[in-house]
Amino acid sequence: MPIATVNPANGETLKTYDALGAEEIERRLAAAEATFRTYRTTSFAERARLMHRAAGLLDEDLEDIGRVMTTEMGKPVKQARAEAAKCAKAMRWYADHAEDLLADELAAPADAADSGASRVLARYRPIGPVLAVMPWNFPLWQVVRFAAPALMAGNVGLLKHASNVPQTALYLEDLFRRAGFPEGCFQTLLIGSGAVEGVLRDPRVKAATLTGSEPAGRAVASVAGDEVKKTVLELGGSDPYVVMPSADVERAATVAVTARAQNNGQSCIAAKRFIVHADVFDAFAERFAAGMRALKVGDPLEEDTEIGPLSTEQGRADLEELVDDAVEKGATALCGGGRPDGLDGGWYYAPTVLTGITPGMRIHLEETFGPVATLYRAADLDEAVALANDTPFGLSSNVWTRDEGEVERFTRDLEAGGVFVNGMTASHPAFPFGGEKRSGYGRELSGHGIREFCNITTVWHG
Ligand code: NDP
Repeated sequence: MPIATVNPANGETLKTYDALGAEEIERRLAAAEATFRTYRTTSFAERARLMHRAAGLLDEDLEDIGRVMTTEMGKPVKQARAEAAKCAKAMRWYADHAEDLLADELAAPADAADSGASRVLARYRPIGPVLAVMPWNFPLWQVVRFAAPALMAGNVGLLKHASNVPQTALYLEDLFRRAGFPEGCFQTLLIGSGAVEGVLRDPRVKAATLTGSEPAGRAVASVAGDEVKKTVLELGGSDPYVVMPSADVERAATVAVTARAQNNGQSCIAAKRFIVHADVFDAFAERFAAGMRALKVGDPLEEDTEIGPLSTEQGRADLEELVDDAVEKGATALCGGGRPDGLDGGWYYAPTVLTGITPGMRIHLEETFGPVATLYRAADLDEAVALANDTPFGLSSNVWTRDEGEVERFTRDLEAGGVFVNGMTASHPAFPFGGEKRSGYGRELSGHGIREFCNITTVWHG
């Protein structure tokens, strides 16, 4: 894949970049290592000062970086600005909380005494240069949710961003530099995916985090495993959105549209499979399909656009294949089901709701990365839980019910890293984020996220 900005709204190549050569990669790895040696000794107060400055700069840049993101990957510009604002918030949250999150953990005095010690503690220490392999769908947020905790912990970052968002990748490097982080603290490596293995095997790189597809995750984790280096993987999802009879169906249908259509439907935590109890199925289906049909599809730079083009031509082709396979095998499109009229220049796909899904259809088990929802009818709670878990993924889940017993059952039995009750999944700096099954492992955000890339030293005092 060439490293280039290609506008998904019209297919025009706006800027291309040469991949870094071996010498330049070496220079950057050396800088990362050298910077880490001193940066790891800086105080939390100093790191927080720089992180707050980065957040302030980002706030000033919302308009410009929003347009860059939209031009590179097609998300509606309003959502791009919101993404940038969320990044600034996460930076401030980690600037304010990192020291507490990484404070020494004292063992219980009785346990210390039992070991013959006067005092025992666990101390978190930074791990070193961490490689971040990141996707294009939230080109700023995916990186910042790694970078803010990593830099606050005293690590340094090396970003290998998706090849279709090079300007956003370079912006991030520049942002941290302008904020005053030492040269080498956060560097962008403009490299193709083929060059990742060499960087990851370099002894100066201590760990890796990857957000993206399962094949990419497997490739990076295999190399890291071979090198005995830690990884965190966030590999997408096919989150269930369950609606039970006691739910506010009207509200559930309204939120369902946002949950599915956010980011042009290209979000790992988007609700993708809508599992609705038979008693409220018709009412929900009608409202949900009407909401999806009403979305304004068009130029993502227009303020009132709700659905822009998919990020790549290949992404749209993959989505089309999934929908066509389902329809050929008997699924029905309540709305959409193809390309929208009058938008031929870009990689658009109409918001689509499919019913009549059967296990023989690819879409039943594969992730739809675009504005396509599948709708299932469940006879009862047991069937709803079974359908929700009938997926290789386990990122998050959404359940709509006013019945506390059902909430307990879903929380106990859904195989997912999150359960959002009467609302849609959204990440927040203070809450752990990550999945199980094929959605990956490890956690980002919160205290769990910042501790992923720390060494833990047990300190025993006799
Ligand atoms: P990829 O997983 O291919 O890309 C994500 C990142 O991984 C990019 O930086 C990419 O680099 C890199 N990469 C890809 N293959 C390798 C490899 N073998 N070794 C090292 N790095 C690699 O995502 P796609 O853009 O191809 O999207 C395909 C599907 O992935 C989507 O349809 C969706 O299902 C899923 N996805 C999930 C995301 C999520 O948020 N969890 C985000 C994006 C995609 P390069 O761009 O240079 O190829």
